[in-house]
Amino acid sequence: MKIVIVSPDLYTYGAMVIGGVLKSAGFDVTLTKNPDDAAEAGADVILLSLYSTLHLLDERIRNFASAFKSGSAAPGDRAIYVGGPISAYPDIVLGELDVDAVIVGEGEESTVELLNNGISEDISGIAFRDNDEIIVTKPEPAKIERPMPLIPDDIGSQSIRGANTYIETHRGCIGACGFCQVPKFFGTKIRSRDIPEIIAEIEEFKRCGVRRIAISGGTSSLYQYGESGSVNTSAFIELLQAIAEVMGPRNVSVPDIRVDYVDEEVLHAIHDFTMGWVYYGIESGSNEMLKVMRKGVDLEANVYAIELAQQCGVKVGGSFIVGYPGETIDDYELTKSLIEDTFLDDVFVSIAEPIPGTHLSGLVLETDDSENPTFMAHTGEYKALKLTESEARCFDLTLHAQMCKAVPSILTGPLYNACLEDSRQQGGDVRVVTRLLQKYRGSDVQEKP
Ligand code: SF4
Repeated sequence: MKIVIVSPDLYTYGAMVIGGVLKSAGFDVTLTKNPDDAAEAGADVILLSLYSTLHLLDERIRNFASAFKSGSAAPGDRAIYVGGPISAYPDIVLGELDVDAVIVGEGEESTVELLNNGISEDISGIAFRDNDEIIVTKPEPAKIERPMPLIPDDIGSQSIRGANTYIETHRGCIGACGFCQVPKFFGTKIRSRDIPEIIAEIEEFKRCGVRRIAISGGTSSLYQYGESGSVNTSAFIELLQAIAEVMGPRNVSVPDIRVDYVDEEVLHAIHDFTMGWVYYGIESGSNEMLKVMRKGVDLEANVYAIELAQQCGVKVGGSFIVGYPGETIDDYELTKSLIEDTFLDDVFVSIAEPIPGTHLSGLVLETDDSENPTFMAHTGEYKALKLTESEARCFDLTLHAQMCKAVPSILTGPLYNACLEDSRQQGGDVRVVTRLLQKYRGSDVQEKP
C-alpha cells in the first residue's frame, strides 16, 4: 500500500511525525507539500494534513480530494483521510471535503489502526459518515515517545518565521485562552518528551539540512510542568542548554511563552541558550478584553513580564488581537497606549479568528454581524480605504507599532502598503471562516465513548 502524506505549502512537524510513525510501522510512505506530486506518485491512500480552516475552502485542496476519489479504478480501492488541527471540527471537514474519514486529535496510533483495518467504530479518534449520520469516536492521547520523524530532503529550504522547522518538546497547555484550540486538542495536562529523544531528533533534523529550529508546544517554559504545579525551571534550562549545544544558541528560538510562566532564571536561559527573544501573547491593553479572551492574566502581569525580559537583556516580541467581539474603541485605545509605553522590539497584530470549537467561535456565533467588527464598516480615520472595523484596527495598530518599537521603523510607502494589504487579507480570511462557522451552526456532533 502506497501512502502519500500531503501537507500543503509547508512541512508541518505533525505531518513529519505521522510519516515517521507509519514508516516505523512498515508502510511505504512519502511526504509532499504539493498535491500534484501526490497525484503523480500513484498513491493508494492519501493523508491530508491540514492546519488552517481556510484549507477547507481552498479550491486546490477541494479539487484534489474529489479528483483523487473519482479516479478510483473501482469504488473503495483508494482512500483519503484528513488529520491535523482542523480535525477538531470533523463535522465541518466532512461537510466540505470529499474524504473518507477524519483522524481526530493526536493521530499517531489511530492512523496506523485505520490503515491496517479500515474505517471502524472500534478505532478511537476517527470520524466518518454512516449514511446520513456522522460517527465520531473519542480520541485518546497518543504516546509521547515515538520514532524519528519522516524528514524531507528539502527541509533546509523551508522558513517558518525564520526557522526551518518547529519541534515539539511537550504537549498540552494549562492555559484556557478563548481563541486557542491547543488545550482542547492536546489536553490541559502537560506531557513532556525526554531530553535524549528530543536531542536525537534535533541531530537528525540537522543532518537533513536544518540550520534553525523553533520550539513549539503551546508555551515553551511549561516543559516538564506538572509534578510540582509550577514551572520546572531546571528542566527547561537543561533542555535549552542541550539544544543549544547541537544547534548553536543563535539558531534556536522559543517563539511562544506565557507572561505568567517566566522568571529571571527562565529569561536568562533564553538569553544565553537561544537567539535571545521571547514572544508573548499580550493580546490587549484592556483588562476587560483580557477577561473576555480568558487569558488568565491582566495588564499588570503583561507589563511586568515585558519589563523583566528587557532587564534580562532579552528582546520582546508581542502578539496582539483586534476585532474580538465586544472590543470597544476605548479597549482598542488602551492597546495602543500599552504599545506606546512598552517599547517592544517587534509586534504582530492579528484579527480575531474564530477557530471552530473555541470559546471565541461561540462568542462570534452569538454576535450579530451588525455588531461584529469583522463585518462592521469602518467610519473613522480610514473611511476612504473602505475597510471593516477589524481591518482598520489591524492596520492602524500595525502602523502605530512600527513607530513605537524600541527601534522605530521609517514609515515608507511600501511598508504602508504591506500593512494595508496584510490587514485586508486577514479581514477577508476571517470573514470567510466566520461564514463557514455560521453555515455549520448547531451541527456539532457527539463523540461516541
Ligand atoms: S497559553 Fe498559548 S497555547 Fe496555551 S491556551 Fe493560551 S494561547 Fe493557547
